[in-house]
Amino acid sequence: MTTQNFVPFVDLHAQYLSIKGEVDAAIASVIRDSSFIRGPHVDAFESDFAAMHNIEHCISCGNGTDSLYIAMHALGVKPGDEVIVPAHSWISTSETVSQLGAVPIFCDSDASTFTIDPTLLDQLITSKTVGIIPVHLYGQPADMDAIMVFAKKHKIWVLEDCAQAHLATYKGQLVGTFGNASSFSFYPGKNLGAMGDAGAILTRDKKLAEKMVMFARHGGLTKGDHQIEGINSRMDGMQAAILNVKLKHLAYWTERRQTCAEKYSLLLAGIPGITPPQVALSRKSVWHLYVIQHNRRDALAKHLKRQGIATVVNYPIALPFLPAYAERFHKPEHFPVAHRHQSRILSLPIYPEMSEHQQKLVVKAIKTYRTQE
Ligand SMILES: *Cc1c(COP(=O)(O)O)cnc(C)c1O
Repeated sequence: MTTQNFVPFVDLHAQYLSIKGEVDAAIASVIRDSSFIRGPHVDAFESDFAAMHNIEHCISCGNGTDSLYIAMHALGVKPGDEVIVPAHSWISTSETVSQLGAVPIFCDSDASTFTIDPTLLDQLITSKTVGIIPVHLYGQPADMDAIMVFAKKHKIWVLEDCAQAHLATYKGQLVGTFGNASSFSFYPGKNLGAMGDAGAILTRDKKLAEKMVMFARHGGLTKGDHQIEGINSRMDGMQAAILNVKLKHLAYWTERRQTCAEKYSLLLAGIPGITPPQVALSRKSVWHLYVIQHNRRDALAKHLKRQGIATVVNYPIALPFLPAYAERFHKPEHFPVAHRHQSRILSLPIYPEMSEHQQKLVVKAIKTYRTQE
């Protein structure tokens, strides 16, 4: 719980309290109707989430990792294929490529936005490349113009990983509407979070949507019909009902995050040693995370912890350097930007319910670190 001089990293309970009546009623209605798996709440969420993006098909599923896996299965990824993924992301983005027998090919980050550096893509393409997964990391859209031009030129698909970027825009266009398909997570801590696991895929392609639905539901569109072997990945009614409530508040919560981010950037400007996050021109971040950089990141994090400020490192080891990819023998000089970022990044608390007082506490604590150095 929030006490005066403690700033949590996120405060999911504060969000629940702000909409308690609506959430409790939604949960009660799921129990009343016994609509635990699929049913009206899931249908409503799929159609509202699709409509919000002005896209024909929304396929809900168990979580954001499954949504990547299901989408790539439908896109026809097979053993031996190569898929370009960012060096800097959560491991879902690359592990799902490997789970289909394909090889994730890592692309280094752009130094100022943490997203894929499109100038490196031409070096990564081979005759085996079938697709690319841009991640809108920390809530900031990747450079979609450059990525779409590259994908068109090489006739490969684009699967947007929007797990951290609900409602973010690139040149005014919502993320999740650029690629052949896009993947979302509703993990509780995400900008649109369920009270458990949930995920979804968006696509304009009817055939692709059918393949996804089939694969996610044991390989058939109707019960007992199994055209292929599939998996079981579905959003449950409780999560859908909660998400339906939260969807109505998402635009406001997003604005709140944007206000918090602006405030941070104002308060942090000019503090020696601190590099605040940068958003590229014509991109609008939804600030899933507010990530600063500092040369002595670990010492700063320790100092903040002592002052009651919670921070997180997202992520301490870039994907190419994880033990999971040790057999690939990646070296720091192969991904110099991601390698530099991994030791310098620090995520500060940010969430819609955060008060200005809390933000000031965070900044004050950062300032005292400087004077103690
Ligand atoms: C959270 C996340 C996922 C996975 O979502 P889950 O719902 O936790 O499976 C995938 N990609 C990125 C970039 C994420 O942040």
